[in-house]
Amino acid sequence: MVADAISGSAWSLPHPRSHQEVDLHSYLTTITLPLPDVDDVFEWKAANYPLKVFNSQATWEVLRPRQAAQPWHDIVWFKGAVPKHAISMWIANYDRLATRARLVSWGLSIPVSCPFCANFPETRDHLFLSCQYTNNVWAHVFTRCNPPLQMFANWAELLSWIRAPQSRRLFLLRKLASQVVVFHIWEQRNNLIHNNTSMPPTNVFRAIDREMENIISSKRSNKLFSSLMVMWLR
Ligand SMILES: [Zn+2]
Repeated sequence: MVADAISGSAWSLPHPRSHQEVDLHSYLTTITLPLPDVDDVFEWKAANYPLKVFNSQATWEVLRPRQAAQPWHDIVWFKGAVPKHAISMWIANYDRLATRARLVSWGLSIPVSCPFCANFPETRDHLFLSCQYTNNVWAHVFTRCNPPLQMFANWAELLSWIRAPQSRRLFLLRKLASQVVVFHIWEQRNNLIHNNTSMPPTNVFRAIDREMENIISSKRSNKLFSSLMVMWLR
């Protein structure tokens, strides 16, 4: 309460511990003390908008660090995306997955080679786009949502293939399928490295296929999803 910050006829404030507090104290010295009757009311403002009651959403919106919207945000975060798939895609999109090439660049003495083919360093783009193993998985996926003119040479080409369709349904199907592929390839790669278990690409696709069917059928009440199954199973 304001009354608690007044002692006698002067402000009685704790020692300031930040520049903002120093500024507040010097501002308070410029205003007349609300004496003799201190009638306490409080007002809450988020930015310049007065609120009747405290509102955590409005407050968070004012306080939170903001970045400009990323051009790929709708490929990672969209209605109907499965959180674990979206998060894998998000990390992969920033090239922050702990691939062997990145681990080696941090100074770890481990083999840098791709665990699937052993022919190239395991970078994100090799692992998810150019490895022969992954290409075999993508080949099955392309039968369901149309192949690119040529295999993706880099991450940007994957994103533009996802974004290319005029049809909202094909765009959604490609977004979902790409996230599921990234998730499953990363899972297989971890199984191979850490558990020494391997699986042929056809079986990986079978798992992807099942997962896509589950995602689509769980959202079938949504108009956009309702016709995706026919597209996926053609
Ligand atoms: Zn490889």
